[in-house]
Amino acid sequence: MSKRLLVIGGNAAGLSTASQVKRLQPSWEVIVFEKGANISYAPSGVPYFLSGRVADIDDLIELTPNDAVNKRNIDLRLQHEVIAIHPHRKRILVHSSLGEREEAFDFLMIATGSIPLSMGLDLRSHKRVFTLKTLDDGKRIKKSLKDLQPKKVAVIGGGYIGLELLETMKLLGLETHFIHRRDHLARVFEKEVSDKLKEKMVAEGILLKLHTQIHDIKESLDRVIIETQNGRLEYDMVFLGLGVSPANQLAKDAGITLGVKEAIKVNSYLETNWEGIYAGGDCTEAYHLVGEKYVYTPLAPKANKEGFIAGLNISGQRTPFQGIVGTSIVQFFDIGVARTGLTHEEAKENFHPIKYHLTSLTKPSYYPNTERIHSTIVIDKDSGRLLGAQLIGPHDAIKRIDVYATALYNRMTIGDIFHLDLAYAPPFSPVYDPVLLAARIGRKKI
Ligand SMILES: Cc1cc2nc3c(=O)[nH]c(=O)nc-3n(C[C@H](O)[C@H](O)[C@H](O)COP(=O)(O)OP(=O)(O)OC[C@H]3O[C@@H](n4cnc5c(N)ncnc54)[C@H](O)[C@@H]3O)c2cc1C
Repeated sequence: MSKRLLVIGGNAAGLSTASQVKRLQPSWEVIVFEKGANISYAPSGVPYFLSGRVADIDDLIELTPNDAVNKRNIDLRLQHEVIAIHPHRKRILVHSSLGEREEAFDFLMIATGSIPLSMGLDLRSHKRVFTLKTLDDGKRIKKSLKDLQPKKVAVIGGGYIGLELLETMKLLGLETHFIHRRDHLARVFEKEVSDKLKEKMVAEGILLKLHTQIHDIKESLDRVIIETQNGRLEYDMVFLGLGVSPANQLAKDAGITLGVKEAIKVNSYLETNWEGIYAGGDCTEAYHLVGEKYVYTPLAPKANKEGFIAGLNISGQRTPFQGIVGTSIVQFFDIGVARTGLTHEEAKENFHPIKYHLTSLTKPSYYPNTERIHSTIVIDKDSGRLLGAQLIGPHDAIKRIDVYATALYNRMTIGDIFHLDLAYAPPFSPVYDPVLLAARIGRKKI
């Protein structure tokens, strides 16, 4: 019997669910409501559009609305905002230029994503203070960079979007300041990694304003004034890279259960507490397989995979989403930073963790362009199990984080990792790959 699936949100999670259900149940009616004008775009590409490495912002659109409709047979309603969910009656209320209208569903997928944190500022009334989330944000920032011709800018916040914005502004030739309330960058980074990143900032000419508590941000006609405990700072433009919170208002109002950081609570089948209502992506929490608890980790692979798996479940193929191990990677000038698993601090909650650090070569010492990669490894002293790893080094070396992520997923010990048969040839790695070397050292610590 044909069913009706409604999807709220047309990006990674929502579009993945819609496409999957249309693939498996072509006769079902699948309608995607997207409040913006784009679907299926890569927010992760926007910093590269700002720095000019991606020429056209439209290149960040993976699936055009036309293709969604014509090739995937999805009924797409752009600039349609869902303003209420009525779980009892299995209906949603949608607002568009045509007014308000109720739509009935058999299944509902909530994929509303996340909202950038903005220190309580209403950025609609600011012309010089920005967050970066959507393609429209990217266009607005690009235009302002051109119109306002800034010379001195600041980035507030030391997470991965903050790092990307710092790099972008510096590459554009602007005097770039990094404002952060602590000495340590985002808590997800080990101290060793945070210190190396700060060294890199200084080497690239970024001015560090650490231990800086912000009391107020005001905007005048020609500048942004930031009042801090260390006095007043003035900039032409300011970017907030403070992280995101789940876009949960619809779910909250509908009585859908929320979890960590008020992200929507789902079981491993991506079901909420209401039958027929699913959720996935940045608006949901996820189960951390190493920490063995729910966390809020809004990243693209989780969103895409959860959307895909929600689609399988809605279509009748019962499939669990296994969880995450907290893997991420970011470029910062000519180096990259990658992490997976728990930090030493996080691991203390459930384990007896030890942490060690090594610097190794990315290729044999005789080979051209050999560089250094820094690894920080966390293992459980009692069992030898790997708990986390962080890498900082050249771009072509730090995707090795995926070996650690695979080891974490498989609950491997550092001894197991030593026995992995990893590839070797001089242009790619030394005979003891940095991962094997880390394992060789780690075996002696337990
Ligand atoms: C600058 C930047 C860089 C990033 N870089 C990386 C990276 O390198 N690696 C990585 O893994 N992740 C990265 N991310 C995170 C990644 O983009 C997100 O995890 C991913 O986009 C989440 O997908 P989603 O579908 O859950 O949510 P979103 O992409 O937020 O999409 C949600 C959609 O729902 C729509 N919507 C919301 N509410 C409603 C409503 N009521 N009615 C109708 N529509 C609604 C929104 O308009 C939006 O289009 C980055 C994010 C940003 C902003």
